[in-house]
Amino acid sequence: MSCPAKASPCAPVTLSRGPVARVDHCPQCNVISIHLGATSIRLEPAAYEALWGTLSHALRVLRGLTEAPEATPTMWTSSGGSA
Ligand SMILES: [Zn+2]
Repeated sequence: MSCPAKASPCAPVTLSRGPVARVDHCPQCNVISIHLGATSIRLEPAAYEALWGTLSHALRVLRGLTEAPEATPTMWTSSGGSA
């Protein structure tokens, strides 16, 4: 794996490892990589924190601890197209 921002190769540090995912951090380009099976997602730390908030909220909704949001304040408007 190589950094898109730098020519030098990444030296990611594993932050956490679980049964379905592993989370790495590359100090050189300050990118969080979430490895889910064959899929890897690369995020800036701020985006990773936002994702964590979304995941933890979804889990609370799943467990009936809180309600699903009426409108989703997403950074990316990938879902909910107005077609
Ligand atoms: Zn890197």
